[in-house]
Formats: sequence, structure tokens, C-alpha cells
Amino acid sequence: MSMKEKVIKVPFDSFFGAFITLACNFKCSYCVQKISLPRQDVARYPLRPGKDWVRALNSIPNRRKRKNFFIAKKKKLAIIGGEPTLHPDFVYILNNLDKDWRITVTSNFTGPFFEGDAEGLRKIKKRRHLRFNGSYHFLENVSIEKFIENVIKTKKAGIKIHSIFIVGHPGHIEEVNRYKERLRKVHPNVKVQRFYGYYQGRLYPLPPEDYDIVYEQQDGIRNYKDYPEGFSQESRQSMYCLMNKVLFAPNGDVYKCHYRLYTGHKEKMGNLFNQDVLVCDKDYFLCHDYGFCNPCDAEGHPFKRLDGTAFNIAESIKK
Ligand code: SF4
Ligand code: SF4
Repeated sequence: MSMKEKVIKVPFDSFFGAFITLACNFKCSYCVQKISLPRQDVARYPLRPGKDWVRALNSIPNRRKRKNFFIAKKKKLAIIGGEPTLHPDFVYILNNLDKDWRITVTSNFTGPFFEGDAEGLRKIKKRRHLRFNGSYHFLENVSIEKFIENVIKTKKAGIKIHSIFIVGHPGHIEEVNRYKERLRKVHPNVKVQRFYGYYQGRLYPLPPEDYDIVYEQQDGIRNYKDYPEGFSQESRQSMYCLMNKVLFAPNGDVYKCHYRLYTGHKEKMGNLFNQDVLVCDKDYFLCHDYGFCNPCDAEGHPFKRLDGTAFNIAESIKK
């Protein structure tokens, strides 16, 4: 059965993220799902079958943009979670999303999907525009040997791995550096990510001069003066926000930012499965939750105060 087009009125370069499940086999204390909502639980969403995801996502038009006469850019799609391999139709989704998607899966490379002979991995069809990023969470008691074994299984299944990340937890930097060196022996692109959230009463990330940690993956946070006001989860205020994101919750609800998705906020753009036209504000919109923003939403997003003063967390401002 053919499906009506799903028109999502956003610029081509908007970030599209499909959170096909928020479930995870780990409970990392620094998980971005939790750090922006210490006083409430993460929203619970029912899962949707893979065929619904595939039909809806493949029916979004205009996913190619001509770069020049020969080359067309394809729309990027991040498949994320939680741990996306826990979705029962994970392989079906990857194998049936059409070629106009350029897909990046982010996984912790651990759990039932990677166990034994990892049959699921071998069932994933090889395609040019599919890659995995991995994250190693040694604080969850997963041994480095086991993680490396799963990285090798993934590569042997013919799946391209782009980056492997380790969160640079300020209390475990020696281990982080040790594991980084170890992982670089099996994969060239291993990056230490900045730690987000609170550690010993301080909100991270801190300005670089307060660290002795080398971070290969820089997020967009450079304005350390304004960062705590928006991201410390202490008090709310009204702010104009400009977002270029389209985030699909596990039930298809569409949100503009991680805070709203993780809390199941009433302010949503609609639902991917129930609506044919979703319109995203291209301009600033008013939000009353500034103060509870998630660090994943700090990068490059402009804000504007009610008096009209604009600022950006990604731009460096002296303390
Ligand atoms: S593996 Fe990732 S999604 Fe799962 S708890 Fe840890 S940080 Fe969160
Ligand atoms: S101000 Fe913060 S909480 Fe509100 S929409 Fe923007 S990023 Fe989300």
C-alpha cells in the first residue's frame, strides 16, 4: 500500500533523530536522558513496530539536495536511544529505510544484539550510507575485552564504524586515557567526550582552563558565563529559543529539543505516525523551561531574552 507523503516543513539541514527506544541495558549516572531531569522520571513511551517507522520515514519527501551536477546530498538521520539495538525491529528498520537516508546509529556495542555469533549484525544489509558510532561505558562494568570483541564482530559483519567515544568523567580520567589507548589499537578514531552534568557539586563542562583533560570531541559549549543559567536544572524562566532539530520519540511524537522529548512535554510538533503535515517554527519561539535545557541542545542554538538580547551558548564569552 502506498503512503501519503509526510511533509515536515523544516530546512534541509535540520538534525533528524529517531529515538526508536529510550530503553537501555545500562544505567550510566551521566546519561543525558537523566541529567536534565534530576527531579522527575524520564518519560515512558510505547514502542512502534519497525514497519511503522519505515513507512513513515520513507514517505518524507525532499531528502536529496543537489550539491552539483553529479552529486546530491542525502538527508542525515541519527538512529539513537537509549540503546537502539534493543528495539525488536532494529534490523528491519535499518534494512528498509530507503537510500535517500544517510544513517548513523549510536550504540553502546553491548547487550543481547552483540552476544554469541551476533546473528543480527550479520543480517544488516551493507549500504554505503550507513555507519555506527560506539560508546564505551567502563563504569557499567563492561570489560574492555568484551567491548573490543563486539567492535571486531561489528567490523567483521561488514559494518562501518566511524567513531568510538568514551565519556571523560572527571573522577576517572586515568582509566579514560588508558582505555582510549587500548581502543586505538583496534580503531583509529577514538574520542574522549566532554562530561555533562554535576560532579562534586560543580556543573560540567567547566571552562578548559579548569581541566587537565584533553577532549577530542568538543561540543558547542563555549559560553561558560551563560551556560549555568540555562542548563543547571535549578529554576525556569521564559526565553526565546531557535532550534533546528526534529526529534522523534519512540511513539512518534515530534519534539524540538531533548528536554521536551525526555520529559514527554506537552509542547510538541505533532506525531509522525498520525499526521501528514508537521510544521516546525523556523524562527524563535517562546519557551518557559529555559534553565532545564539539556546539554545536547547547547550546540549552536541561539537564544533571545524577552528584552531582545540574543546570545549563544556556543560562542565564547569572557567570565
Ligand atoms: S549507554 Fe548511553 S543511553 Fe545507555 S544509560 Fe549509558 S549513556 Fe544512557
Ligand atoms: S529553551 Fe531549552 S527547554 Fe526550551 S525549547 Fe529551547 S532547548 Fe528546549
